[in-house]
Amino acid sequence: MVASRAAQLRRIEREVENLSDTSLAKYRRQEGYHPVVGRGDPEAHLMLIGEAPGKQEALRGEPFVGAAGHMLDEMLKSVGLERDQIYITNILKDRPPDNRPPQKEEIMLYTPFLRRQIKIIQPRVIVTLERFAMDFILAEFDMPEEGKNITELHGKPLAATASYGPIVVLPLFHPAVAFYRRDQKDILKRDFLNIREQMETG
Ligand code: URA
Repeated sequence: MVASRAAQLRRIEREVENLSDTSLAKYRRQEGYHPVVGRGDPEAHLMLIGEAPGKQEALRGEPFVGAAGHMLDEMLKSVGLERDQIYITNILKDRPPDNRPPQKEEIMLYTPFLRRQIKIIQPRVIVTLERFAMDFILAEFDMPEEGKNITELHGKPLAATASYGPIVVLPLFHPAVAFYRRDQKDILKRDFLNIREQMETG
């Protein structure tokens, strides 16, 4: 019998929890943090992929619950979406010290979990938040845009083919950019309208 999507996702959670000989897992235990594997509907049509958990996320074991998460909630709400309708995860499942960018070997260690999450959930629309998630997804689906930078691809719905069918990839900036610049918040609002549109047509 094939395990339910929720059961398969729980299995990934246990595997990440049990990682032992990696520096980020050691750091997690030392600080009393939790792994942040992902949250949301296992049947979601939309998956959001961020970079890595911050401190608030690692304390709670949930993605995007700190300041960037509040911005994300505001944006979701503005287009009539709720967190429990979507699935949110990150490239790294453990918090890097001082929120430093993910390192290559950490990406290699954690992205097999992400690859499995995508196969289980089978989202029709994947939104990447910032460049690490974008670079991984472009390479993962062997997309012709691989190697282009985020400024070039931001806000453009890109067609790709997953093992389970056609998908749309939408590269966005990280929601935290909207803290610093008003014009970025307007851009983010437009981006979220675009997400809604892709979900309706995708
Ligand atoms: N930023 C991310 O990229 N992911 C989180 O979970 C929180 C902040």
